[in-house]
Amino acid sequence: MEILKTTGIALSSHVSGEADIICNYYTIDSGKRKFVFKGLRKSRKRSLSATEPGTVANIVYYHREDRGSFIVNDVSIEKYYSSFSADLKKIFHLYFILECVEKTTGYEARDESLFRLLIAAIEVLSKTNYPAHLTAFFTLRLLKGHGILPDLATCKICGKKISSQFTLDLIDLRPVCGICLADDRGGPVQGSALLSRDMIVYVNECNVKKFSMIDLGRYQEEDVLNLIFTYSLFMENYFHWELKSKSFILSARYR
Ligand SMILES: [Zn+2]
Repeated sequence: MEILKTTGIALSSHVSGEADIICNYYTIDSGKRKFVFKGLRKSRKRSLSATEPGTVANIVYYHREDRGSFIVNDVSIEKYYSSFSADLKKIFHLYFILECVEKTTGYEARDESLFRLLIAAIEVLSKTNYPAHLTAFFTLRLLKGHGILPDLATCKICGKKISSQFTLDLIDLRPVCGICLADDRGGPVQGSALLSRDMIVYVNECNVKKFSMIDLGRYQEEDVLNLIFTYSLFMENYFHWELKSKSFILSARYR
């Protein structure tokens, strides 16, 4: 057994036994990893904030090759976002982003660019006035990183540029224009809500630009939430699980 050190972002945690806390982190060097904090709930020395979703922490732990979880020896907090606790809307977006990472990644699968993407997204989310825009941006980049983002410029059926309302086919996320949708020529399309034309522009901006370079005010939050809704349905369909946190940010779509 050796003692190792890593940096990770807390994804989710739960209590185990009387005082232990088990926390999944997305680490810089090993991807998703499960850590056990022995006695943390009763500890006066150590703070619970290391295990709060979104916290960035440096973790020293006992490493054993044959174990699925690792016992923490020491932890120090690198970044704790107290600003989230005052903003319910941002907390919900944070949970959604973290759940997307947790559920689309396996244990021990190193992906440093995803680590960097996630850490940057949380930082931006803590400051932005456009949390929905950030969530849509993040989700698109996450899917791109996983190699499942298709060509987004043209209609999957007629091959023309999207110039009016459209949908994204939930099978492969490729756009289908309103005309082809109405026409039904390409066979049934498993699409979700109709998206405004602005969203194809936004999606393409997210694909190639930095978030800070996008003129976010051009895009209506309602449109962006429809886009997130579509991504959620796609991911649930693709990975065969349910995104529990989607109902918090998309509640209006479930009434
Ligand atoms: Zn078309």
